[in-house]
Amino acid sequence: MIDIKSLNLEELILEMESRNEKKFRAKQLYEWMHQKLARGFEEMSNLPKEMRTLLMERYSYTSLKIARVQESKVDQTRKYLFELSDGNLVESVWMKYKFGNSVCISSQVGCKMGCRFCASTLDGLERSLLPSEMIDQIYAIAKDTGEKVSNVVVMGTGEPLDNYDNLIRFIQLLTDEHGLNISQRNITVSTCGIVPEIMKLAEEKLQITLAISLHATTDQKRQALMPVANKYSLEELLGACRFYFQQTGRRLTFEYSLVGGVNDTEEDARELIGLLRHFNCHVNLIPVNPIKEREYVESANAQIQAFKNKLEKNGINVTIRREMGRDIDGACGQLRRRHSEEQQSGGIRR
Ligand code: SAH
Repeated sequence: MIDIKSLNLEELILEMESRNEKKFRAKQLYEWMHQKLARGFEEMSNLPKEMRTLLMERYSYTSLKIARVQESKVDQTRKYLFELSDGNLVESVWMKYKFGNSVCISSQVGCKMGCRFCASTLDGLERSLLPSEMIDQIYAIAKDTGEKVSNVVVMGTGEPLDNYDNLIRFIQLLTDEHGLNISQRNITVSTCGIVPEIMKLAEEKLQITLAISLHATTDQKRQALMPVANKYSLEELLGACRFYFQQTGRRLTFEYSLVGGVNDTEEDARELIGLLRHFNCHVNLIPVNPIKEREYVESANAQIQAFKNKLEKNGINVTIRREMGRDIDGACGQLRRRHSEEQQSGGIRR
């Protein structure tokens, strides 16, 4: 069955015309899915009953169930755990900033990239998400909060460039003027650095922000943290980043998770400056969020500050990521893991 919410408007019009439905009906249907954020065909009250019956019989309609919500006591961050139609679980985060509301979504169930400090990848990849399942996370949160979403970051569980075609389609749907009409500039996609896919993405010439998970300044150190670094060297990765900038004119973001005693020394800062000196970029320092399955620890506050200052002094644009929602299993994949562990042991811990 065709997953109807993953079709763009043109495709939907063709699809409906092939069933002898009028163009305006296809537009109404699209509006129900992508503007009124209907949870199913039955809500689509201005479509004729026969059409709704046909839709129900012939098309699949994804919708998420809220399995759990945790709200931070520190800020207004909310972490959602959603259940997909096949019972799999994904996490998304709702963040309120002064400049608008932001949703962080997952692109896969689990992840196969194996970054050492990350909870999402501990059990490997279960499957990739459909475009509709990515966008549903935003729709479900918009419905639940009743507020407007202005920014979307693809920084939850999964490697978005390992789900390339669905990611592109998702961006199309999200930025469509007949849908939520979110500007490309308000979308950020974060990747661990799959070089050929970055090159491909550059050719699409989108105006989205690309964030690269760098985390280390030499191939050797990067390989110890991120298996993907065995496949692509830093030189190749930074070459692809340069190409991305040339093609799109968009400033890159480099994410650098600071891990105590691993990549947070003065020498690391110096090497990072050397690597990025000629880049038009922004560095986002993320104090590592320790997961219980690994022995990594956070850097001391003074160390984090010193690292930041050194970068700044050398003209690199840098921020320390505000640690939103740390009290609610804010790190990628933590909530989903805890939920499954609790289901297995039969009790909810608080
Ligand atoms: N697969 C994508 C998006 C996933 S996570 C990527 O690798 O970029 C978003 C960011 O959070 C990445 O930079 C990731 O390396 C980082 N991250 C994951 N777990 C973390 C943890 N426990 N502490 C700090 N940063 C973490």
